[in-house]
Amino acid sequence: MADAVVWRAEVVLIEPGTQLHDAEVVTQNGVILEVRQRRASGNDVVRELGSAILMPGLVNVHTHLDYTVMRGAVEDVAFFPWIRELTARSAVLTPDDWLASAVWGAAECAAGGVTTIGDCTPTGRAAEAAAMLGLGGVIFQELFGIDPAGQSVAESISELEQKLHSMRSICAGTPLQPGISPHSPYTVRTDLLQAAARYAHNNDLPICIHAAESLPESQLVRNGIGEIAESLRRRSINWKPPGLTTVQYLDECGLLGERTLLVHGVQTAAGDLLTTQQSGSAWAHCPRSNAKLGNGVAPLGLLGDRVGLGTDSAVSSNTLDMFEEMRFAVYMQRASRRQIETIGARKIVSMATEGGAGALNIATRTGRLEPGSSADMCAVSLNSISCQPAYDSCGALVYSCGARDVMLTVSGGRVIYDMAAGSGPFERFPGVDLLPWFRKLKGAEARVREWTSP
Ligand SMILES: [Zn+2]
Repeated sequence: MADAVVWRAEVVLIEPGTQLHDAEVVTQNGVILEVRQRRASGNDVVRELGSAILMPGLVNVHTHLDYTVMRGAVEDVAFFPWIRELTARSAVLTPDDWLASAVWGAAECAAGGVTTIGDCTPTGRAAEAAAMLGLGGVIFQELFGIDPAGQSVAESISELEQKLHSMRSICAGTPLQPGISPHSPYTVRTDLLQAAARYAHNNDLPICIHAAESLPESQLVRNGIGEIAESLRRRSINWKPPGLTTVQYLDECGLLGERTLLVHGVQTAAGDLLTTQQSGSAWAHCPRSNAKLGNGVAPLGLLGDRVGLGTDSAVSSNTLDMFEEMRFAVYMQRASRRQIETIGARKIVSMATEGGAGALNIATRTGRLEPGSSADMCAVSLNSISCQPAYDSCGALVYSCGARDVMLTVSGGRVIYDMAAGSGPFERFPGVDLLPWFRKLKGAEARVREWTSP
């Protein structure tokens, strides 16, 4: 049995409403043994964190680590031309490029206090990268197929099964588990969505799907009109609108349930709340992505109680900084509803920790600093000029601090980021030398940069 380790800080935030001052978390074999006031340490190994908030590791419920290399590649372009150009540019990337990109994203998560992710990946590289950097969570293998003239349902599901086979072996022995992500209602046709739902059910897999993200998507599903509908018609794809909201449509496809994570929810209608709640589905709230891509503000009140916070990819929100996401989430709800009471610091910290763990169905394992939980923690330094003074812990975390203030991240008791470990930013990830990955990332960046429109 490994020695117990004592992590000591000025503030230990057990969960957003409960904290101890001058306190410590004791961990052993990857699990939290005790959270207590500071004691004489005896023979224990002690890590003194000083003026810092030691808190549960952040849970980023919606990422696409694969796409980190595309950060900033296409800016200030409307949503659908943006997706088209990204897809075209990313075609130049090699399998090694995708891995370097995902490693870079995983490193950004670890450096920003994130210990758990819900990631959607077309290549599967995100699973390798997350495992390498020591992150936990759910890696959803993406599935596409809108054109009935393309792959048959059986072929698509068989290909998905093969990809899941390799993902399972990557996840074995790590705090990661596989899931599936039929990408969205406008990129996966109805019979394939239904088949994906059956496959997930029969194989006990969680599901993630982009839903109710944009107006053109809801126009397509409700009435078969709008930008996406026109684009499908141009491709001679005959897509019959079910005449429903996206949430109702996905429910009819059999996709909703307690193990389903819906992403975005900007275009949710009042009736969708009941459907979501009755099915037990959870939402990923991605306010910066929704705003930056011009899609709008998700009505948090219509998303129910099972909501986690996600940055989306570095393509849509540019950073995987959960502090920025928390701050922006509060600002956007207040600005759009012209009310302070809509949401506050404690609630959004809760959404970024235990709420996210709940949305991924792993709340018994992570999201709070309590005995028996996985030792998933991050320490946020209060030593920077902009973090002082810090009257209230949650207030400081949401309104003053940023990912740059994270000094230590621990996942399952393993230090995965330590600002004190190296002099440069590449040397702070114990067991992973980031420099070779940086060189590979720059190679991939050069290929993306050189792409020209055919
Ligand atoms: Zn997404």
